[in-house]
Amino acid sequence: MPSLSEETGGRVSMLMPGSTIGIIGGGQLGRMMALSARYMGFRVGVLDPTPNCPTGQVADFQITAEYDDKTAIHDLAVQSDVLTYEFENVDAGAIDEVRGITATPQGTDLLRVTQHRVREKQFINDHGTATAPWRAVNNFDELDAALGDIHYPAVLKTVSGGYDGHGQLVLRSDADLEKIRSRSDRGGGFPPSILEGFVDFAFEASILVSGNGKDFVTFPIVRNEHRNNILHMTIAPAEVSEHVAREAHELAIRLAKGFELAGTLAIELFITKDDQVIVNELAPRPHNSGHYTIEACSMDQFDAHIRGIAGWPLPKPKLLSPAVMVNVLGQHVEPTRALIATHPEWNVHDYGKAEVRHDRKMGHITVLTDDPAKTVADLEATGCWDDLKKKA
Ligand code: AMP
Repeated sequence: MPSLSEETGGRVSMLMPGSTIGIIGGGQLGRMMALSARYMGFRVGVLDPTPNCPTGQVADFQITAEYDDKTAIHDLAVQSDVLTYEFENVDAGAIDEVRGITATPQGTDLLRVTQHRVREKQFINDHGTATAPWRAVNNFDELDAALGDIHYPAVLKTVSGGYDGHGQLVLRSDADLEKIRSRSDRGGGFPPSILEGFVDFAFEASILVSGNGKDFVTFPIVRNEHRNNILHMTIAPAEVSEHVAREAHELAIRLAKGFELAGTLAIELFITKDDQVIVNELAPRPHNSGHYTIEACSMDQFDAHIRGIAGWPLPKPKLLSPAVMVNVLGQHVEPTRALIATHPEWNVHDYGKAEVRHDRKMGHITVLTDDPAKTVADLEATGCWDDLKKKA
């Protein structure tokens, strides 16, 4: 395999077109990373257990194996000039093992921190940034003591493995505590957990930051609406005060510097009524709430990720137009397809997933607009997302 890295001025090692990017995980995020990589002239390999997965359909080659198959990760590393991933639950040890074989510019500290809610909260606080009050809790005595400090309502989350609201419980009273006590007595055990104060937020938001290890740029802060713990819509930009926009930008740069970030990092935020900006969690990769950047920004989150891991310079992304992004889950595929013909303003993305399942992310639609509130109302008025209205 020819090494196509090039020293520029003896400073930054840049990966040149023709080099191969290996992606662990072949879902929609990998697919959109691969599409960015392809038009910049990179080759793409992907590791995923599903043959012809969403990323495999647009990659040069796929290694079909489980994500934690060390032989397969080694194979991908041997065939790649740089290795990245589309989700955070990657075996960091397996990536450390191939560091001599291929470049891993994101490192593994970022993975180890973002895989573990206690380490993540500590890292965020250590970098001068607010989270909900929290305590690590590993048994009922520690939970009782933590509730003494944090009080009801509080949220109990497992330290690892949870996503989109799975592995978490809201505790509003002693009755809720009794429920988990009896479940644990019946053999449920007590997984390592974190207790967080419940944040009475005005709305949820997020901000993306991208880096090349040395320089960092942020995208605009956006507003996110969840239904049943799954992202439903993103409205870009969020209508926030200058103070909130500045805080979000500054905390994103602080965290990116702390990680010496290469690639894209998503930061999920709570914005309170009195304009506090509180970090909920981090995702060490492009994020569903950043899909609007494909049409609405001068550089999108996937381009930024690829440029960052390739050691390329990053221009400051500009918002070219306000936008609304809505997710297409399994139950929305048919109704939205029926309306494509009458909605030329819809930028339709389909991830090429073979199996359509209820609540599975199958695609998304982005609408560029001068009037986001009207666009949200127009989208909802189509009736395509009515199932979420009823359950919300
Ligand atoms: P997470 O898995 O941490 O992203 O949480 C999923 C969702 O649960 C978030 O998007 C919030 O809507 C809600 N949530 C999580 N943590 C808290 C908290 N400490 N206070 C209030 N709501 C929370």
